[in-house]
Amino acid sequence: MTPSIDSRITRRGLLGGIGLGAGALSLGSFHPVQAALLPEPEQSETFDVVVIGSGLAGCSAALEAASSGARVVVLEKASQSRMGGNSFLAGGSFSLPLAETDAARADYVADYEAYTLGRGNAAIFALMAQHIHADVAWLKDNGIEVLPAVERPPNRVATATVAPASFAGMPVLFRRMKARLEELGARFVFDAKARQLIMSEDGAVVGVRAIGRRGMVDYRGTSVVIATGGYAGNSQFLESYSDPNAGALMVRGIPHATGDGLLMAQGAGAGLKGMGGLMALHIAAVDGVETAAGQPAAVVPYAVSINRNGRRFVDESLGYVTHGKAVLEQPGQSTTLVFDQPIREKAAEGVISTFTRLGLTVHQADTLEELAEKVGLPTAALQETIESFNQSVENGAAPAANPPKRTLATRIETAPFYAFSPLVPGITLTFGGIMIDERARVLEADGRVIPGLLAAGEGAGPVFFQDYIGGGSMTNCLVMGRIAGREAVSVTRTA
Ligand SMILES: Cc1cc2nc3c(=O)[nH]c(=O)nc-3n(C[C@H](O)[C@H](O)[C@H](O)COP(=O)(O)OP(=O)(O)OC[C@H]3O[C@@H](n4cnc5c(N)ncnc54)[C@H](O)[C@@H]3O)c2cc1C
Repeated sequence: MTPSIDSRITRRGLLGGIGLGAGALSLGSFHPVQAALLPEPEQSETFDVVVIGSGLAGCSAALEAASSGARVVVLEKASQSRMGGNSFLAGGSFSLPLAETDAARADYVADYEAYTLGRGNAAIFALMAQHIHADVAWLKDNGIEVLPAVERPPNRVATATVAPASFAGMPVLFRRMKARLEELGARFVFDAKARQLIMSEDGAVVGVRAIGRRGMVDYRGTSVVIATGGYAGNSQFLESYSDPNAGALMVRGIPHATGDGLLMAQGAGAGLKGMGGLMALHIAAVDGVETAAGQPAAVVPYAVSINRNGRRFVDESLGYVTHGKAVLEQPGQSTTLVFDQPIREKAAEGVISTFTRLGLTVHQADTLEELAEKVGLPTAALQETIESFNQSVENGAAPAANPPKRTLATRIETAPFYAFSPLVPGITLTFGGIMIDERARVLEADGRVIPGLLAAGEGAGPVFFQDYIGGGSMTNCLVMGRIAGREAVSVTRTA
């Protein structure tokens, strides 16, 4: 199809709201098969900024852009009652530097780099450190309450949770975000699945072709923000990229996180990165019934984790992702997290109250023998493991334990004793995704910017590798979502 000269779409023409028939669109560099599959819709609408995905990254981008006066539409493939994607299900914790100082920011970045084995995205960690305090304040300015930050040793990172409590705040955040966006004139289109990006002849992205209740519609804009989240719900991606068995892993979040944005971006020439191997997955050991909120992450570094044979198998202080991945290797792929009264007081009250609210069992016993019976562990092995662990604890570490524990080690000796059991591994999020720069602009594999195309959130960066420190994904979504929104507005202004 060769468009006539005067029917070509220019970015300036779009800004001015010139309505051209969809048949006049140039399909630019689309793969011919993709182009042939999609009929050319008769309906089209024009905005400044088209955001795909109503999760935290998408809503943050949309709110940032709408606050600057841009005409914004948010396309969401789920129904309105399922607005918010995985962000809606999240614990709602943001990670922050311990203080608003350069030294604290440097510590925060260094800890993220260490957790991600030096292969995480240092530039994005620095942006997270630089912006997150102001961005949490921005949420508050928009009527979203966030609880005071709590330190999370051994990391030099604090977490601040959306009020009123862990796993109860995100629905409140989304109600408020939606109301605020609508006050600013932004539109939500639910049940609208973005299928393909629309490119102009000069290779700029100028819209999205989506299918929804009204059939196929083109949503045009001077910029498009992909905020479609990760691909934990796409077993083909998991099996092809992560591990042949990864498709069988339990997924904690929404089943429709299928990496649509990655595919669309790739169709427009974007590079994808960081998707290979289990290092591209965040895996946590969770309650098998309530796989989202039944998650004792805060307790893991202090407790001991015991497999079906009654043995420890990982340094729990390395955090809940390393722990979750280690559970994959254990018999029956399950574990029991054991702790005592002092650990309860130090680190477990919040988790116990969440478990209790959800009707999940928190096992409690006056002796380890009784606890072993309650959770079905071999009594002698459990007692021997805890005894030998206790003997090796010195000065807050257990270097001679098997395996050693480098920090946060305390003797498990003061009744009552507690256990979360059984815990099983589940994918929380995926780490790989669309290559972006520090302005959230989507890049081709060779580093060239694709004009008009931005991406943010779980499926963009990529940001993390192998592991992360809790709260990092929400911080990334908020910080990079706002940056994408700002960049989208600047594209609109210069178009
Ligand atoms: C149970 C659970 C708890 C978590 N807790 C935390 C936490 O406390 N702290 C933390 O940092 N991280 C946490 N995470 C991870 C974090 O929630 C996610 O990484 C983050 O919310 C992803 O946000 P997002 O905006 O990128 O994507 P999402 O929130 O998943 O939003 C993407 C949206 O895009 C929509 N979409 C997808 N494809 C299309 C398409 N083709 N067309 C239109 N719409 C589309 C989806 O339906 C979805 O609504 C948790 C994850 C889970 C599952």
